[in-house]
Amino acid sequence: MNSETTQRILEAVDAAFDAQLATTRDFVAIPSTRGAEGPCQDMIGDLLRERGYEVDDWHIDLDELKDLRGFGPVEHDFSRARTVVGTYRPATVSGKSLILQGHCDVVPAGPLEMWETPPFSPVVRDGKMYGRGACDMKSGTIGALYALDAIKAAGFKPTARIHFQSVIEEESTGVGALSTLQRGYRADACFIPEPTGGKMVRSQVGVIWFRLKVRGHPAHVFEAGIGANAITAAYHLIGALQKLEAEWNERAKSDRHFKGLTHPINFNPGIIRGGDWASSVPAWCDVDCRIAVLPGWLIAEAQNEIRACVAAAARDHRFLSNNPPDVEWSGFLSEGYELKDSAEPEAAFGKAYAAAYGGEVEDLVFTALTDTRFYGLNYNIPSLCFGAAGAAMHGFNEYVDLQSLRKSTKATALFIAEWCGVEKA
Ligand SMILES: [Zn+2]
Repeated sequence: MNSETTQRILEAVDAAFDAQLATTRDFVAIPSTRGAEGPCQDMIGDLLRERGYEVDDWHIDLDELKDLRGFGPVEHDFSRARTVVGTYRPATVSGKSLILQGHCDVVPAGPLEMWETPPFSPVVRDGKMYGRGACDMKSGTIGALYALDAIKAAGFKPTARIHFQSVIEEESTGVGALSTLQRGYRADACFIPEPTGGKMVRSQVGVIWFRLKVRGHPAHVFEAGIGANAITAAYHLIGALQKLEAEWNERAKSDRHFKGLTHPINFNPGIIRGGDWASSVPAWCDVDCRIAVLPGWLIAEAQNEIRACVAAAARDHRFLSNNPPDVEWSGFLSEGYELKDSAEPEAAFGKAYAAAYGGEVEDLVFTALTDTRFYGLNYNIPSLCFGAAGAAMHGFNEYVDLQSLRKSTKATALFIAEWCGVEKA
């Protein structure tokens, strides 16, 4: 790509940046927590249709996905779950095809009083946009759409097929991304603009979700000695799983990417429910947990270790030894992913990065997961993950930094042009 083309695309991103932010704000304003992503998918479908993409908008059928690699069980009502893909087909084919993907689901906002401004009323303040999903990752999805717009506004059109995918469930199972592969979408590379702080994800953990189901024996507290408290028993199991976490972190010291991190495996008891009455010994306690695994670790083996850890802890507990707890798989069953067979798209991205940022892109070893794994592991589609900077994803006062968003949008636009090729419109 010559420097004039590059320059025109960079200028086009700047020229439309205010419009990009307005669209981002509208997108962030939709409270698209799990199960409520429909209005986001409607909005993306409209944005794609307005721009002349061929739109495929379908309901996800879990039966078609359940035998695919990386499927995680879905426990909630899934009857309204949809995926939206907009396809661009070039008149002339000379470059390489591309999947651009973003997830529109966001995690719950948590207690509203802990936000400075309401999570679904996005505001721009001091060069940052605040709101749930502003950073993770609605600004990235809209940025990719405007990156495509910038190529057009600069007077060019891509010379390869492009699929723009808006998916759900990235935050709990990944079945949205999986559904695009089941539907048959493939390309020579995939690019996901998650907020990576301007770094390229080199290696990322996988995640397992599971639920401890502890059953106690109810009694009035005045005779608590005869009951068995399911909540305190659950704490015993959590303690054992923290030891497993430490063991896995020890094992991580031999991983070539993760050995540089002090605590890459994080175990998190994330939800606890139990008991029915303050004066009754709780007869039940459910604890929803998340733990990470590293690339190359087999999910089935990790599941066996979790089961064995819980069983061993139960054996040395007075009550649990006769009333063993259950372990249920409640979401992610995801392998880790290490970027590979990616020299070509990385070379194209390297040029784009140099023009937008200057210098060479830094690697990121990521202790969370992204949807890239499905494309890479299931179909060997090299899957790049790169995007803006921000903070408090999954926390309070989440924001995306707008200068970094402008830059990452530029790098995205130049990468698309470099990878897919462009011709004069
Ligand atoms: Zn995300």
